[in-house]
Amino acid sequence: MKKTSNKYDALIIGSGIGGLICGALLAKHGLDTLILEQHFKPGGYVQSYKRDKFTFDVVHAIGGLKKGSQLERIFSYIGVDKKVEFIEIDKTFKFIYPDITIDCYTDINRYKQELINNFPEEKEGIHKYFKTMQSIWKEMQSSYYRPTLSQFLTYLIRFPNLVRYYHSTHQEILDRFFKDTRLKEILGSGWGYLGLNNPRISGLYLMGMYMSYHAGGAWYPKGGYQKISDAFAECFKEYGGNLRLNTKVKKILIKKTGLLGLSLMMVKKLWRNA
Ligand SMILES: Cc1cc2nc3c(=O)[nH]c(=O)nc-3n(C[C@H](O)[C@H](O)[C@H](O)COP(=O)(O)OP(=O)(O)OC[C@H]3O[C@@H](n4cnc5c(N)ncnc54)[C@H](O)[C@@H]3O)c2cc1C
Repeated sequence: MKKTSNKYDALIIGSGIGGLICGALLAKHGLDTLILEQHFKPGGYVQSYKRDKFTFDVVHAIGGLKKGSQLERIFSYIGVDKKVEFIEIDKTFKFIYPDITIDCYTDINRYKQELINNFPEEKEGIHKYFKTMQSIWKEMQSSYYRPTLSQFLTYLIRFPNLVRYYHSTHQEILDRFFKDTRLKEILGSGWGYLGLNNPRISGLYLMGMYMSYHAGGAWYPKGGYQKISDAFAECFKEYGGNLRLNTKVKKILIKKTGLLGLSLMMVKKLWRNA
């Protein structure tokens, strides 16, 4: 049915992967949702573009699409898994320096061995660094979102690595385990994905990103990254969402609704879904 008013339950600015996923979830749950995107195609950074006869992807690998993982459940809940074929890849990164090239395998033991082969004198530190990284990841997976008082009081015992490193930069963690500057550079090479370099980035944040690949595998969408964004946009529209491209938001007007206004909105929503 064609929409006659310009009122929506939810309005999202930007059709990046964040906006598309939120939009698809909201629309799937029955909210009348509008996404406004300034660009002529959806996806934000998760996009492919052409220069001459070449197609480039901005993003290169999705971490953690193994069956049952958080991401895989979101993708299949929205229905993107039926529209895009994902191919598992064995290397997340290839770190190329003038005098050394290191393959970063998703298989953590293979990656460790690659590093030990190149830096045998740092073998012990490599084992300790990876053991710490795996413990951090395990603790992250079972950490609480909203801890109760008793959970809060036992936090130190249950999550010793999160407590120990929550304030450490990745550089501080590297310095703790290694002497070789080249090895530290290699292990810190992924910082570019998160925006701050090793002396400034949270160690937990960067190690969490590495572990998302080591624990959940790395994946590439057949046909390139635009396929994912197009698939999310399609699902969003199939759930009744409205995506407007070439539409830049210039101003956000905020109106105080108050309790009465909110209650009326809820009643309207319930009425519509009844
Ligand atoms: C070079 C690079 C490589 C990366 N590689 C990977 C990778 O391999 N794997 C991985 O998991 N992650 C990777 N990332 C990170 C990932 O791409 C981003 O975290 C993710 O795409 C961010 O999505 P988003 O929806 O938050 O924002 P964005 O993708 O930035 O989307 C924001 C959208 O909002 C729109 N917008 C902004 N302002 C307005 C406005 N006023 N009106 C209307 N629309 C507006 C923009 O046009 C854009 O489409 C990479 C990032 C970069 C930069």
